[in-house]
Parts: sequence; C-alpha cells; structure tokens
Amino acid sequence: MTVAELGEMLGGSGRAKQVWRALLRGDDPFAPGALSERARLKLVGRCRPTSAALGKQTVADDGTLKALVELEDGNAIEMVVIPKNGRTTVCVSTQVGCKRACSFCVTALVGLRRSLSAAEIVFQVELARRMSQERKMPPLRNVVFMGMGEPLDNLDAVKQGVAVLCDQNGLSIPPRHITLSTVGTTPTKIWSLKDLPVSVAWSLHTADDELRHKLVPTMRHALIDLRDAFVRVVQNRNALLFVEMALIAGINDDIQSAEKLADFLVPFGDNVRINLLPLNPGRGDLAPSQPESVGAYRQTLIERGYFCILRQPRGLGANAACGQLAGLGT
Ligand code: SF4
Repeated sequence: MTVAELGEMLGGSGRAKQVWRALLRGDDPFAPGALSERARLKLVGRCRPTSAALGKQTVADDGTLKALVELEDGNAIEMVVIPKNGRTTVCVSTQVGCKRACSFCVTALVGLRRSLSAAEIVFQVELARRMSQERKMPPLRNVVFMGMGEPLDNLDAVKQGVAVLCDQNGLSIPPRHITLSTVGTTPTKIWSLKDLPVSVAWSLHTADDELRHKLVPTMRHALIDLRDAFVRVVQNRNALLFVEMALIAGINDDIQSAEKLADFLVPFGDNVRINLLPLNPGRGDLAPSQPESVGAYRQTLIERGYFCILRQPRGLGANAACGQLAGLGT
C-alpha cells in the first residue's frame, strides 16, 4: 500500500509514515518497539506482512546476483540485482512463469503458474535494497520489470506496485528510474500505459509479422496495430519508447531485417531508442548473433538516423541474464 492508503487503513497518515520509516531503517514494523504501541496494534489488527523468503543466491563474475525468492504458496520466482557504474539496478518478476511462450526464453518453459501481487512485486525491490546495502553494492537506483512474466498480463498489480515504489514517503524511486518491458500484448493494454509514468520498452525483436509469430507465438495482433498503439502512448506522454531487439544468429540479424525495422519505426520520429542485445544462451536451438552481424545491423540503423546502442549482457555466468530466469535457482 502507498502511505496514503495505509494511513486510511490505520486511521492516520502519521501511523502509516511510522510503518514506512521502520521498514526503511530495516526494522520489522510488526515487532514491539518499532512503532508507537497504538500504531502497532492497529497494524497487527489490519495487516499481515508479505510472507516470502530469500532462497539460493548465485553471483556471476561481473557481480550480478541472481536470487531465488520463495513465496508462501510454495512457488518461487527469481530476481536479479545488477551493480554497475556506481548504481544498482534490480530486475523484478511480475508473474510465476509466463504464458507468452517466447521461443527464445527459458521462463516460457515454466508456463504461467500465477501472477504476483503488488506486495510481492514491491517485496523484491525492498529485498534488493537491503541486499545491495549488506553486500556494499552501489545504491539501488533503478527498477526494471524484465524478470519472469509479462507485466501487461498483470497490469493492476504492476500499477499498484509502481505507485508504492514511487511514493515519496516510502521508497521514493523516481518514475523515470523504472522501466517496464513488454512484448506488447494488445493495443488496448498498450494504450493503458499512457497513465503509467515509467519508461516503456517494447521487446519487439523483428518487424516481420510472420517471424514475430514464431518468436512470440501467442501474439494475436498485427505488428502495425501494436506499433500504432505505442505511437499514441509516446505522443500522448511526449516520452521515449525503447525498442529491444534480441538478435538471433541467422534468424533476425541480417541487413534486410534492420532495414525493415528502420521503415517500421518511422512513425515514432525522434521518440524512439533501439537497444540491441545478442540473444543470451538459454534455449538450445537458438544461438546469439555474431559480432560482425550485430555491428552491420547497428550500422544500418545508425545510417537511417536512429539512436541505437549495443547492450552488454549481464549475469551470464549465473544464468541471470534476460530470458534465462526459470524460478529454479540454478
Ligand atoms: S520473453 Fe518475457 S514475455 Fe516472453 S515468455 Fe519470456 S518472460 Fe514471457
């Protein structure tokens, strides 16, 4: 809950602020002494803490940490904590598994077990904040919704989670430091992002409908309809759209594909940025693009006037990179 919502429940914003101050100090607000006794009794009477536990943790050579989070119903998710360039980013999950069945993603093999609550989403960020402090990582600055699950398939909980994360009396994370990554499920769901003040990334991967249907087989809408919905969001908010391209050797990484993408993105004008990421190892039948192909692909987009960067994979040694999360802690 946001501080305002909690204040309503506890009968006063002062009590709600006490709860968040205790949480930010690392104290358990349900324990005697953390709050005034009147506030604590109200809290204990009306709320219960999110019950989840930190499970197995694996650290990659680059310092990226993958952590298993065991949920109270016996399910488990994974989150990734990434220290880099003086700041730490947490990649959070929004669902246990995912129903989108992307052919290059290990999470897809799990299928969808259930969606996370807003509390379980916020819990991962709070856990990452504490872990980064304990492990002497740089301060936690960024949150990316790029872990297990498709955020637009759990939009209400994601929106509530964002409201809590951004609450200035709580974790106070600036909206521009939060990125929601989506395959873009339907034009209606995409349009609903106009009210969410975070950065949005579209996991597009190809501008070809037939190929996209193979990469994201559950997709029911033509790319042009999804694109037009993103264009309206970007224009409505005067914001940037980040386009994510996982480049797969021999599948979507040739010059013609880059040209097709360049044509496809024209309606965004200056409001688009393209991130290239050679596919991370995961599903045996698909391989990452070779550096020469990635370089030529990028050059094509730059010559067409796009801002296009090559993202460095993080957490490969711990199976903590994009598309590698299966909720198994391995
Ligand atoms: S890439 Fe994202 S949307 Fe696709 S199956 Fe994996 S978690 Fe789901």
